[in-house]
Amino acid sequence: MPNCVVSQKLQLFRLISITRLKGVNDMEQRLVVVGGGYAGLNLVSSLQKQFAGEKGVRITLIDKEAYHLRKVLLFQGAVEDAPLKVPFSTYFDNTVEVIKAELSGVEPKQKLIELKRPDGQRKALHYDRLILCLGSKVVSSAPELGGISLTDTDSSTRIRLQLEQNVRDARLSSQESERKRLLSVAVVGGGITGIETASELVCGLRRKASAAGKGAQRGRRPHSARRKG
Ligand SMILES: Cc1cc2nc3c(=O)[nH]c(=O)nc-3n(C[C@H](O)[C@H](O)[C@H](O)COP(=O)(O)OP(=O)(O)OC[C@H]3O[C@@H](n4cnc5c(N)ncnc54)[C@H](O)[C@@H]3O)c2cc1C
Repeated sequence: MPNCVVSQKLQLFRLISITRLKGVNDMEQRLVVVGGGYAGLNLVSSLQKQFAGEKGVRITLIDKEAYHLRKVLLFQGAVEDAPLKVPFSTYFDNTVEVIKAELSGVEPKQKLIELKRPDGQRKALHYDRLILCLGSKVVSSAPELGGISLTDTDSSTRIRLQLEQNVRDARLSSQESERKRLLSVAVVGGGITGIETASELVCGLRRKASAAGKGAQRGRRPHSARRKG
């Protein structure tokens, strides 16, 4: 977020009335973790273990979504409709308070954060300790280059739908060169994501071909994908 936007948001934040969320006991220590990705999820889980049974500690997890996104498995969604969104309620019992809201400001002097709720309402929440686990900003490729950057569930679904459309078009085409063009996929970038995506595409498409009675079943899930959660 550019600095000027942050400063505008903080000014707005100062103007709004400060409404504490209901039910907060002033004697309680409130540990607030914002972001339920891999970092936030593991942190909350450790805090939960560390403070198990301690009445004076409240652990709060805030995320703009109601689920943890299994980002490292995004490439699976490029081939099939994979369960990539896991509700936070699956991970935590009622010893962790989960709030679905977007962090829109931090007021460190007053130990307050500003949250934007799904209904658009803004609320201020007090914290004693605040840990931000907001992830990183993805730099997508320039649109004029074409292609789809694999960054989130929308993009993995778009890749899958495009592939499925290409396979349908290829079946209708009588020209070998056109069929070849439609069924050729280029994965650009040979880091972990690129390698795993290429591997999943090969295995997943073989599974689909086999299910459709075309070709042998050689589409075992790649090793890395079977290990990860
Ligand atoms: C396809 C793919 C494969 C990968 N494979 C691997 C791998 O094999 N091994 C590996 O180590 N890494 C891998 N990575 C990288 C890994 O996914 C990231 O390093 C990891 O997700 C970072 O975790 P994080 O918790 O910091 O951030 P994220 O997982 O991005 O989580 C950030 C969370 O913060 C929330 N959030 C953001 N802004 C706000 C806000 N303003 N208010 C409230 N909530 C907010 C988001 O909703 C999200 O839940 C892969 C990444 C991709 C895309």
